[in-house]
Amino acid sequence: MAGIQWHYVLKFIITGDASVGKSSLLVRLTDQRFLANPDPTIGVEFGSKLINIPEEEKVVKLQCWDTAGTESFRAIGRSYYRGAVGCLLVYDVTNRKSFVNIKSWLADVRENADPHVTCILVGNKVDLCSDSDGTSNTATSPIVAGFRRAREVTSEEAERFAKEEGLLFVEASAKSGQNVEKAFEDSARDILSKVRRGV
Ligand code: GDP
Repeated sequence: MAGIQWHYVLKFIITGDASVGKSSLLVRLTDQRFLANPDPTIGVEFGSKLINIPEEEKVVKLQCWDTAGTESFRAIGRSYYRGAVGCLLVYDVTNRKSFVNIKSWLADVRENADPHVTCILVGNKVDLCSDSDGTSNTATSPIVAGFRRAREVTSEEAERFAKEEGLLFVEASAKSGQNVEKAFEDSARDILSKVRRGV
């Protein structure tokens, strides 16, 4: 219909440990760029983007909020979660602790967000452990010199965890852009299918 730019506005939030790349994912989604040295004191707080979901014949306006540094103090207020229909739980594939901590971020979401919120587990920074031919190295490997780093969480382990917890899962890179739109699109598709089914 003429004049309609979007059918739904979807509130998304991003959680996870400090430095896993939450702001970078948001900047990549909304601005198609990557900042190698973002100023941690100026966290991106909010970004918005139109996303087309052809299977559902819908365009959604995604409004995404970032913790903007408050995660370091565990000071995320309840209002952050209010109204969210999508949640990215982000860890860094080269930082095992950030993956282990997903459990407590998930507990936070379950305590504060709507029970029907769609959650996607995002293993970020896969570019750091890609093989030189560009294929992703999915197994843990010894530390490699230069910019490459050892992967500390295998895809299989993360996928298993996601399945057990009922989360969607994707590995991504805010740096290369790999799978960033996919993370949001897969979530939006899941949300719209819930809407269609009246969940
Ligand atoms: P946040 O604290 O979770 O919001 O993390 P930031 O977005 O501030 O990123 C922390 C650091 O990781 C910054 O130096 C980013 O440039 C870097 N970073 C973020 N995403 C990626 C990525 O996908 N690949 C690489 N190599 N570095 C990343």
